[in-house]
Amino acid sequence: KKPVIAIDGYSSTGKSSISKIIADKLGLIHLDTGALYRGITWFALQNCMDANDSINLKELFASLDQIELEFRNNDGELILYLNHIDISKQIRTPEVSDNVSLVAKQKEVRDFLLTSQRSLAEKGGIIMDGRDIGTVVLPNADYKFFLTASIDERTNRRYFELASLGIHTDREQVKQNLIGRDKIDSEREIAPLKQAEDATVIDNTSLTKEETIDLILSHIKK
Ligand code: C5P
Repeated sequence: KKPVIAIDGYSSTGKSSISKIIADKLGLIHLDTGALYRGITWFALQNCMDANDSINLKELFASLDQIELEFRNNDGELILYLNHIDISKQIRTPEVSDNVSLVAKQKEVRDFLLTSQRSLAEKGGIIMDGRDIGTVVLPNADYKFFLTASIDERTNRRYFELASLGIHTDREQVKQNLIGRDKIDSEREIAPLKQAEDATVIDNTSLTKEETIDLILSHIKK
């Protein structure tokens, strides 16, 4: 049976891009769970705003059953669709990044996404990355990793990632968003960002992406 692998960690430690490459190498499905929370946040920003221009959470909770999230395979790349619209670019905008942790700390939202995440792993052969995969979503995963890196290194990575998407923002703004999200994600009551007791911790501040991948692969039995 193919393995179930959980990759958690701080923002911009390379979780998703690393998971995607490992999935390709091992023939696994890759699920970027952050994209799901970003998708719900994008929906809220479009449809559930109040008069003060903040997200109306009650309205969002009442609308959750109208949201259909789906990944479609486009030449090996999974593209996120929300109610049949490709939102893979929209979910990377600073506006979504600035609001996603507020949305992700809500029990209603986490419950809504939990069942589908779990059911995807039932047959094995999946690598899932996020914040609570090893602790809550897949506590029985075959392998668990927790990635960390210095805040300056993570800021650089996110800054260049955004630039490659054509999104030009200020480095300090990127840094503050990472710090703010990690704080809300770590301090929330439900499924906080933390390492599972049985996770292998990897600080990749001075590792290249390839080195991090090799390190993870060296832990996985063939
Ligand atoms: O992974 P990414 O940075 O795209 O995740 C965006 C946000 O989604 C995180 O900052 C966190 O608030 C939320 N998230 C979560 N649980 C996960 C994955 C992401 O709460 N498993």
